[in-house]
Amino acid sequence: MNPTTTKLAPVDASTLPPYAPTTYIDYSQPQNRSAYEQALATVRAAMGQEAPLVIGGERFKGSKTFESTNPARPSEVVGRFQLATTEQANQAIETAWRTFATWSRVPAAERAAYLIEAARRMRERRNLFSAWMTLEIGKSWGEADADTAEAIDFMEFYAREMLRYDRPDPLVQMPGEKDQLVYLPLGVGVVIPPWNFPLAITVGMTTAAVVTGNTVVLKPASDTPAIAWQFFQLMEEVGLPPGVINFLTGSGGVVGDPLVKHAKTRFVSFTGSREVGIGINKLAAEVQPGQIWLKRVVAEMGGKDGIIVDDEGDVAAAALGVAQSAFGFQGQKCSACSRAIVVQKVYDEFLTRLQAEVAKLTIGEPDQYGAWMGPVSSKNAFEKILSYIEVGKQEGRLIAGGQRIAGKDGYFIEPTVIADVKPDARIAQEEIFGPVLAVIPVKDYDEALRVANGTDYGLTGAVYSKNPHKLERARQEFFVGNLYLNRKCTGAMVGAHPFGGFNMSGTDSKAGGRDYLLLFLQAKSIAEKIG
Ligand code: NAP
Repeated sequence: MNPTTTKLAPVDASTLPPYAPTTYIDYSQPQNRSAYEQALATVRAAMGQEAPLVIGGERFKGSKTFESTNPARPSEVVGRFQLATTEQANQAIETAWRTFATWSRVPAAERAAYLIEAARRMRERRNLFSAWMTLEIGKSWGEADADTAEAIDFMEFYAREMLRYDRPDPLVQMPGEKDQLVYLPLGVGVVIPPWNFPLAITVGMTTAAVVTGNTVVLKPASDTPAIAWQFFQLMEEVGLPPGVINFLTGSGGVVGDPLVKHAKTRFVSFTGSREVGIGINKLAAEVQPGQIWLKRVVAEMGGKDGIIVDDEGDVAAAALGVAQSAFGFQGQKCSACSRAIVVQKVYDEFLTRLQAEVAKLTIGEPDQYGAWMGPVSSKNAFEKILSYIEVGKQEGRLIAGGQRIAGKDGYFIEPTVIADVKPDARIAQEEIFGPVLAVIPVKDYDEALRVANGTDYGLTGAVYSKNPHKLERARQEFFVGNLYLNRKCTGAMVGAHPFGGFNMSGTDSKAGGRDYLLLFLQAKSIAEKIG
């Protein structure tokens, strides 16, 4: 396809309905079920194709190609993608830089129109986008649908947010002056998402940067380039000018450094592991020859999220909430509960109830209806998680799971619970990013809060207690970016639960919140003498 620019009519804020989160599809309904089966068949028929790099709307080959495969059946190739070179990374930044000159001058309401139109088309093809995720990264139908719904919500929300930032700022007016504050885009951004929310996070990070008037180089995660490619093509289809988003696949270890280092890179928007985030932050801080700004780094990183089960809490609800938070999408969410911190008085009851909840979880091929859990993302992840389970067996008592699922080629691991874990054990401190839960007994609520706060991270956390004083203490003392009271700690909704963490979980950039777009803007104050 030859990309063309379509000038869209500016969004009319007065006719735009208020933002509301997308509701999920109920696949127990036969018509929804057959629609998803059809979407899976359509995606299967489209799989295996080669995608190019796209820089300034032009298609390029890289040095070699790599394959993206289905983690449920690793011999199945989902797509072939280019390994970009350092030169191509530099070329992409230069192109984005040239495009910035024009895109930054496009009125905000026109920029927002591209997001609204893309959201509309994604909504129309919702099951297709989700089916790519089921086949490329092993998301169950429900998890894939939630990911697509979040992507739609990010676009709808950020479009409206841009219109809000575009309205006059209510400044104090000095006598004899017209005083104004306007928000300008920053410049060229490098967008580096992870594979675990391969549509929602990719779309959210990219469209937030673009709707604010920046241009970007999008470097998708190498485990999920196919879904990123679907999104990129959608933005071409709605007529976004070439060069606003440049699509550059390849190894983060190879193209990451040149993208981050480039003197014309103005900001880096990263979501991924702590290790990579720290490296990016360090490299971005080095001022390169010719660079005339300090780069802004938005880094959202890992978690070691804890749920406190208090002796004044609903233990049955807590067991269900912990099981859902720990094992949804195989525990591969930054918000996943990987530590249940349980007050001694209800410890045995909690373990019994948790085992019962875990026993109910269905594991199977994610392209089949009814599989609540599927495979983990890759061979590397599979091996790493199994080795952590071995560590866990030494550090505590295995009470559920602990094995790979026999007879499958894919990377399936049982939901695993290890009880009697000490707060400083490796499995209670290190992010495993898989279906492994450590249960830590504590003597009382004071100790529970201390243990909950006793990691390097601070992303999500939850407390199950009916005691309002204890909940109030959690509000004040539980040091996490996203705190949940008497509910699970996953499932943040755009607009309702702005998402981002403290400490080594990141820069607390609150995706899906009203502060988020400011990260990609700079304010200019203008005072004009009048009269
Ligand atoms: P990752 O290994 O850090 O990779 C994330 C992205 O960084 C990928 O696109 C990767 O590319 C790229 N990358 C790798 N090395 C790089 C380098 N040297 N320079 C620049 N980019 C580089 O993380 P992941 O395994 O994809 O994602 C899981 C992690 O993300 C977990 O720690 C999870 O907690 C975190 N996460 C956090 C949030 C949040 O909001 N806080 C949300 C989701 C996930 P390649 O794929 O090519 O290596």
